[in-house]
Amino acid sequence: MSAILTLNAGSSSIKFGLFDAESLVEEAGGQVERIGGEAELDLEIPGRPKVETRLPIANHHEAVTAILAAIAPYLDGRAVVGVGHRVVHGGPDHDAPLVLDEAAIARLARLEPLAPLHQPHNLAAVRAAREAFPGPVQVACFDTAFHRGHPFVQDTYGLPRRFYDMGVRRYGFHGLSYDYISGKLKEDWPALHAGRVVVAHLGNGASLCAMEAGKSIASTMGFSALSGLCMGTRPGQLDAGVLLWMLDDQKMSAAEITRVLYKESGLKGLSGETNDMRALLASQAEEAGQAVDYFVIRVAQEVASMAAALGGIDALVFTGGIGENAAPIRARVLEQLAFLGFALDAQANEAGGTRISSGLPALVLPTNEELVIARAVQAAL
Ligand code: ADP
Repeated sequence: MSAILTLNAGSSSIKFGLFDAESLVEEAGGQVERIGGEAELDLEIPGRPKVETRLPIANHHEAVTAILAAIAPYLDGRAVVGVGHRVVHGGPDHDAPLVLDEAAIARLARLEPLAPLHQPHNLAAVRAAREAFPGPVQVACFDTAFHRGHPFVQDTYGLPRRFYDMGVRRYGFHGLSYDYISGKLKEDWPALHAGRVVVAHLGNGASLCAMEAGKSIASTMGFSALSGLCMGTRPGQLDAGVLLWMLDDQKMSAAEITRVLYKESGLKGLSGETNDMRALLASQAEEAGQAVDYFVIRVAQEVASMAAALGGIDALVFTGGIGENAAPIRARVLEQLAFLGFALDAQANEAGGTRISSGLPALVLPTNEELVIARAVQAAL
């Protein structure tokens, strides 16, 4: 009897999950938030109330130690035999999970310039976990891996060829979520899985994936997690000329532009209020309404773009915090896309049904990135 731990590290947070190594039943999960100060550790055990603990946590290493202490009672003497990590960037070469050793970690660290806001934190958690668990196998699961089979025209920009060779490619992200959805379709909707499906992962970060027979052939995200859809605090699609104007005319520094693009744009920037979709849907403010309008039209337009990449569309799947929970957003996207053949089933949509349209199928499928990581560790074991 043994267990698998999954870690999903951000700049100031780590989400974790504890799975039985054989059945892959999730036995405990939660997150540490506000690393670097007075942090909070939330522990969720199925069937029990969530336990929230406040404690000072200075860095990712201390966070991993705190997670270990929190899950220890649920290990019941079993060993953690493998640790799986979400790592945002695998670069051009990795189309599958990777068992980590020192050399592999050093190679992944060289990709930090491609994902400066995520990769260093992901690797900090890897190093902390390797110190805490020197024995168990450590596996990296990449957000880019699911998209590595894109044809050249979906992998490149129209830049001089040398930039492609230097790694300026449309990597795409949210691959763990799309991997999960692809597997779920195969299990429960095999005819759709075999066809052309657009999956909308709509959370704080948001993207679309065009899937043909369960494999990604295109994504709205590209070189970085900035492009494509309007997100919580990121703008999505942006004319590169805007960046030139910010640099040359506004004399903004790279650090200022980074802050605007990653932290101050999207729903938050447009509403002037918040990146929280639930709050925006409840707000009476005109700007909040405009932010939601922009979010919806960008999703709808890009679904059509993904359908063009697929040469047609057999189904649309909603997932992620907004996709799974925001019925009014799903309704408006489907109404905008009625020309493709979607007919909203308002009752099913509001009642939390799985299929929310007649005509062309639109589905709501909760994602489970942690389970995809746990499966990868099990396979490595
Ligand atoms: P992350 O990308 O950080 O994992 P999530 O997938 O958890 O984000 O999605 C967070 C988003 O989901 C937030 O904008 C939040 O407001 C939205 N959301 C969650 N529940 C609801 C709901 N019931 N109605 C509308 N939006 C919701």
